[in-house]
Amino acid sequence: MIRYCDLKKITESHEPQLTEAVNRVIQSGWYILGNEVKTFEQEFAEYCGCSYCIGTGNGLDALTIIMLAYREMGVMQEGDEVIVPANTYIASLLSILQAGLKPVLCEPEWESCNIDPGKIEELITPRTKAIMAVHLYGRCANIPQIEGIAKRHSLKIIEDSAQAHGAMIDGKRTGNLGDAAGFSFYPGKNLGALGDGGAITTNDKELASTARAIANYGSEKKYINTYKGVNSRLDEIQAAVLSVKLQRLDADNERRRAIAERYNAGISNRLVKTPSIEKREEHVFHIYPVFCEQRDKLQKHLLERGIETLIHYPVPPHKQEALGEYASLALSITERIHYEELSLPCNPTMSDSDVTAVIEAVNSFKG
Ligand SMILES: *Cc1c(COP(=O)(O)O)cnc(C)c1O
Repeated sequence: MIRYCDLKKITESHEPQLTEAVNRVIQSGWYILGNEVKTFEQEFAEYCGCSYCIGTGNGLDALTIIMLAYREMGVMQEGDEVIVPANTYIASLLSILQAGLKPVLCEPEWESCNIDPGKIEELITPRTKAIMAVHLYGRCANIPQIEGIAKRHSLKIIEDSAQAHGAMIDGKRTGNLGDAAGFSFYPGKNLGALGDGGAITTNDKELASTARAIANYGSEKKYINTYKGVNSRLDEIQAAVLSVKLQRLDADNERRRAIAERYNAGISNRLVKTPSIEKREEHVFHIYPVFCEQRDKLQKHLLERGIETLIHYPVPPHKQEALGEYASLALSITERIHYEELSLPCNPTMSDSDVTAVIEAVNSFKG
């Protein structure tokens, strides 16, 4: 059986360093906001090429806290609008709602599955304050074009980098491509903890200090509360784990790219569309998506041959019961992606023969 993502195998591949790191924290007697978090924040800021990194409890909170900070700074008011790709994971939309703002859904491009810059401007109103650029599947959103739009209309760019640790445009990494970015360290992400975790990165000093306070009860100084904050902190054990795993992130991403290139070269089934790869560094293949009109049949075909696949995502946000107010929107590209997408296994623990087996199984699908 080729598992979609074998977390046990991934964790074992980082031993004994992970166990050593966890034991170090256990023995230190200090578990919240200590040296491990400080060290990881510095390392991750440096990795992204950013001035500031603030650990958070998870990726959803990282995004939410960015917008709560903008509200405290007077940049955004309750009910302001944030443009977000309609085919993203629901967390992107929920973060906007949790910050008291309104998500405005924009269609993606069929080719890249990222927000279509050509469709952003028609959605801008006097209340639009930001564009959320989601780097879906690990592929950078079209930041050069989004930047032009944001400049013309004085909008913030908030990156949802939860799937794209390490991806680059023109030598600049995600986390450093907009005004602020939210990362997730959910175990299955390209940089994953052994539990929940997240981070905000930014070069904006005021945003960094406001977000840091909000994540810690709105407090900059112990027992002195400046804002009505939340409790969302990266903990010491997860920070120690992430420092270990960060050291291999570039090598792991390189392995994902190599697998994706083998898939693109080897899959030659006219029923299955593979993703285009324009510039290598722009994509870290958190997910390797293929598209097939008979997606469910293809998934069954692969499973019968011992290959586990996933769907990202089976139901688009605007068709979820939780977001019933968006149900009447006509979003044909978003819906097509959700009907046709299938994610093939693509992670650093796969062997070359696993990759060959996946290619052969996909090519043997007759519909
Ligand atoms: C995983 C993910 C999130 C949320 O991260 P959590 O750590 O699970 O809260 C947000 N956006 C996208 C695109 C994601 O894939």
